[in-house]
Amino acid sequence: MSEPSIFTRILEGEIPSEIVAETENVFAIRDIAPRAPLHLLVIPKTAAYRNVVELAAGDPALLAEMVGLASSVAAEQGSTDFRLVFNTGPGAGQTVFHVHAHVLAGELDEESLRA
Ligand code: 5GP
Repeated sequence: MSEPSIFTRILEGEIPSEIVAETENVFAIRDIAPRAPLHLLVIPKTAAYRNVVELAAGDPALLAEMVGLASSVAAEQGSTDFRLVFNTGPGAGQTVFHVHAHVLAGELDEESLRA
């Protein structure tokens, strides 16, 4: 069995991080290394899907729930306009293989996005 992901450990309270919003199946936290004035991560509670392609194929309703929470939490934080980014694969910068959406609003730190 593989180790629990960092996001599962946050959800279970093993690693501290404030959960800023949640639905039945999805939760949102602030990214520890923000690359925009608003930078949240929206994450399914299940770690069953490694990336958005697997999630879309396996549980499209859960993907829709993620998009819904991204929209409502961004609005709560004052941003009705936002970017939703799913890094997919290590070559695209994915480092945590428990699917998650980056919710980014305000001016991006383009330099750190390239890093
Ligand atoms: P990825 O690179 O996989 O698309 O995104 C993973 C994100 O998780 C990164 O933006 C990184 O800053 C964030 N992250 C990694 N570890 C932690 C943590 O312990 N707490 C929080 N809040 N974010 C984390």
